[in-house]
Amino acid sequence: MIGVLAVQGDVREHVACLESLGATTRLVRRPAELDGLDGIVLPGGESTTMDKLLRAFELRDPLRERLSAGLPAYGSCAGMILLADRVLDATADQQTLGGMDVTVRRNAFGRQVDSFEEDLVMPVIPGDPVRAVFIRAPWVESVGADVEVLGTVASGPAAGRVVAVRQGNLLATSFHPEVTGDGRVHDYFLGMAKR
Ligand code: GLN
Repeated sequence: MIGVLAVQGDVREHVACLESLGATTRLVRRPAELDGLDGIVLPGGESTTMDKLLRAFELRDPLRERLSAGLPAYGSCAGMILLADRVLDATADQQTLGGMDVTVRRNAFGRQVDSFEEDLVMPVIPGDPVRAVFIRAPWVESVGADVEVLGTVASGPAAGRVVAVRQGNLLATSFHPEVTGDGRVHDYFLGMAKR
């Protein structure tokens, strides 16, 4: 059973993607809905709003506990921000769940390039490059020693920027594979969730 955090964001797209891969899903809005999960997806959306709602729904602390106890989690875009230990360009009172020893920069690609797409080579994803859709996306500014870099931007002004990372049970991408119909990133996550 894979949970999808359903306080805000593109919940439906993640549910559809996971179910197309044969996973059973559960929307998570209450602490009790964390029980018995094999993994949880933190969708894209607005990290500041998600942070406020996590606290209002009293989900923040129980979810942090599950993550540090090893619950596999995949965060896309705002979800990546939620998993980061440090955030640049955060709002004044913005908190994260943390767990990944990374510094991410919100809205990093700048105003001119709010949204763009790129083919990304991710060695852990076999076959064709992954079509990466970035929407007001963060990038990973720096990573700690235990963080595996899974993907970087290939060309353009942001060339070399880290946009996919893993640290143990935690996976995060700056982009939104849930909107492209390509299930391979979610499939990789389901592999993490099964182990
Ligand atoms: N800019 C958003 C934030 O800071 C993330 C955008 C997204 O998830 N597509 O939370």
